[in-house]
Amino acid sequence: MKRPLALSLAVLLLLSGCSSTEESTTIFAMDTVMTLTAYGSHAREGLSAAEAEINRLEKTLSVTREDSEVWAIDHSAGAPVTVGTDTAALLNAAAALGDRTGGALDVTLYPVVKAWGFTTGDYRIPDAEELADLLTRVDDHAVHMDGDTVTLPAGMELDFGALAKGYAGEQCASLLKEAGVTSAILNLGGNVQTVGAKPDGSPWRVAVQDPEGESEDYVGWLELTDEAAVTSGGYQRYFEENGVRYWHIIDPDTGAPARSGLLSATIVGKSGTACDGLSTGLFVLGPEKALDCWRQSDDFEAVLIGEDHTVQITAGLADRFTLREDSGYTLRIVEE
Ligand code: ADP
Ligand code: MG
Repeated sequence: MKRPLALSLAVLLLLSGCSSTEESTTIFAMDTVMTLTAYGSHAREGLSAAEAEINRLEKTLSVTREDSEVWAIDHSAGAPVTVGTDTAALLNAAAALGDRTGGALDVTLYPVVKAWGFTTGDYRIPDAEELADLLTRVDDHAVHMDGDTVTLPAGMELDFGALAKGYAGEQCASLLKEAGVTSAILNLGGNVQTVGAKPDGSPWRVAVQDPEGESEDYVGWLELTDEAAVTSGGYQRYFEENGVRYWHIIDPDTGAPARSGLLSATIVGKSGTACDGLSTGLFVLGPEKALDCWRQSDDFEAVLIGEDHTVQITAGLADRFTLREDSGYTLRIVEE
């Protein structure tokens, strides 16, 4: 039995009444619904710039648009391709985050993601031989960058699906600030990017979804100021066959959906790109290795929800995460 694409927002916004002028826009881009909300007299102008930026990035980074830079790389048959600053920035970020996660984030997994049907919704379970063969074409260290020139070996394909929305959120936050906006919250399909605090000066409150609940159920909420929060979870996009659930986050070691003991990983930090890449990578790594990565880092905090119904939060969130009463989950604060 094949089920249709199940998509839900990973993070719900809890917006309480704000008195400052509020402007909001909802767009569909990067395969998801995005809601951008900004406050104050520069809100409209800031949102126009943000919306234009998202559309521009989609054109540049889309793996399916024949005029995108990613398409050019994926169809280069090993020839060098000249790229713009966004593609170059994402390739550099992906390489660094790939290394930080021990290869758990790998943007060259695209042939494997395609084989499972996650790109089209035409789901299937590739057999072990097919996966082993596809994995010979996966290795982000084989991507060669020289200035603004990228070379990808023939037969390989890359895709920024695991970090493009975080990058877009980060870029939009900069543009909003340039336009004079000091308070905004952007929800890019579960990738939340905040600008400043709420108009009344208090932190934004962003709910963390219950991975086993309905899309409106949440396990608790985070308080954020001028930072991003990004969730990756097995519940966001999946299909079921013979009672087994197969989701869209793949372990590069096996080529199969990552089963690491985590139901979701939410990453909080200043860089939306890093948060997005790490949310995918740490979901693949599982709780212990994810916390090892956190201990070696100083640019993010995490909320890791386990199959054992524990919610582990890293020390930096101790005063900024509240578990919902009756959530059914147990909270554990992880110290350094
Ligand atoms: P979403 O895009 O649903 O918010 P993620 O940021 O976790 O979630 O990105 C998942 C997407 O990234 C998948 O749909 C797939 O295209 C791609 N992907 C899956 N597994 C990996 C991985 N281990 N490394 C890099 N990209 C991946
Ligand atoms: Mg991600």
